[in-house]
Amino acid sequence: MARKILLEHLNVPGIETLEVFRKMGGYQAVEKVLKTMSPDDVTEEVKKSGLRGRGGAGFPAGMKWSFIDKKSEKPRYLVCNADESEPGTFKDRYLMEKIPHSLIEGMIVSSYALGAKTSYIYIRGEYFYVLRILEKAIAEAYEAGFLGKNILGTDYSLDLHVQIGAGAYICGEETALLESLEGKRGNPRMKPPFPAISGLYASPTVVNNVETIAAVPHIVNMTGDEYAKIGVGRSTGTKLISASGHINKPGVYEIEMGLPVEEFIYSDEYCGGIKNGKRLKALIAGGSSVPILPEHLITKTANGDARLMTYESLSDGGFVSGTMLGSGGFIVMDETTCIVRNTWTLARFYHHESCGQCSPCREGTGWMEKVLHRIENGHGKMSDVDLLVDIAKKIEGNTICPLGDAAAWPIASAIRHFREEFEYHVKYPEKVKDPKHFFYAPFVSEKMNASIA
Ligand code: SF4
Repeated sequence: MARKILLEHLNVPGIETLEVFRKMGGYQAVEKVLKTMSPDDVTEEVKKSGLRGRGGAGFPAGMKWSFIDKKSEKPRYLVCNADESEPGTFKDRYLMEKIPHSLIEGMIVSSYALGAKTSYIYIRGEYFYVLRILEKAIAEAYEAGFLGKNILGTDYSLDLHVQIGAGAYICGEETALLESLEGKRGNPRMKPPFPAISGLYASPTVVNNVETIAAVPHIVNMTGDEYAKIGVGRSTGTKLISASGHINKPGVYEIEMGLPVEEFIYSDEYCGGIKNGKRLKALIAGGSSVPILPEHLITKTANGDARLMTYESLSDGGFVSGTMLGSGGFIVMDETTCIVRNTWTLARFYHHESCGQCSPCREGTGWMEKVLHRIENGHGKMSDVDLLVDIAKKIEGNTICPLGDAAAWPIASAIRHFREEFEYHVKYPEKVKDPKHFFYAPFVSEKMNASIA
């Protein structure tokens, strides 16, 4: 069995309560940092651990903390990004729902390291029931003296608030989140200045993902050096993966960084293989914003090396033959999946969620959706395929926030790897309109072909 850190006590009855959480060693890190460590010591441990942001970007967390403007006389803030809206990603929800105190402990330790006296958890609007769980856990922490004035009799005081979002995907982008937290429309800000200099209320702010913050107490307890021993290279520690799609065992798994993708998909400890014995066709490895991988690049890189679940291995080959670990949202697709329909669905999503501030994203996502819609419905032209590539290129790198790239990459990569499937839709409009041929017939295995003949 692989080592578990974040989910080690997942199955302990009552682990959502403060009492049981403490029995399992919870809040020891708060005692340790407040009584024996300086804030800089904590940051140093996080740096040594090699922990990288688990929300998608993978930026080293300790380095991000060290950018905070310590000379500023303004208050500093820690904001937890719990606005988990990336399609295919649901691991933060799982962690907050099952072990809410792990996030609260992480908020206290991380806020102490940053010198924050007021911190926020910004949670996705659709996670309303998780908000209730968090509020209950926060009330318990206040009552036990882990939050509020003079925590555990020390000089350190912290107030923790939970703010619920209103259902906009773009508020998962850190500066849009800060705008929303300030009570404004959640439009991303131009960077620089970065939040570490001018974030919430124009004050020094760190925004970290739920999983990142929840890992910090474990790093403090085990030391950064020990944490860094888990994993491979610059991908250290463990990672929560949300696995969905055509697999036998969808769910949230904690893996040690470096696990082979093949083992993750096929072993009974994790996804348990492809459902109904069908053939694997494609994988989205890091939530919907990353490039899609075709079958031959999922378990092996273009060089023939085993593809590992690390930031580096998944991006091996760049966007030509690689992808990104992103948020760890694994969407597994079997041979019955229509890549054109899948791509159209994504384009619809990004068009709907574009905040509209920049023209390439606002207009480009709309055009991609329209063009994909007509291809999928048998009204496409052969030139539409290159038109989509052209639109994606015009969006990529030309927008205020990463949503533009996130909309362009999946579409450009789908055409790169599955161009003939798009062309098939144009060439055989009658076939793609037939519900029996909703997928790309030439791809499927002989068994599937026989069943649809
Ligand atoms: Fe808004 Fe899209 Fe521009 Fe981001 S890229 S700021 S979502 S219009």
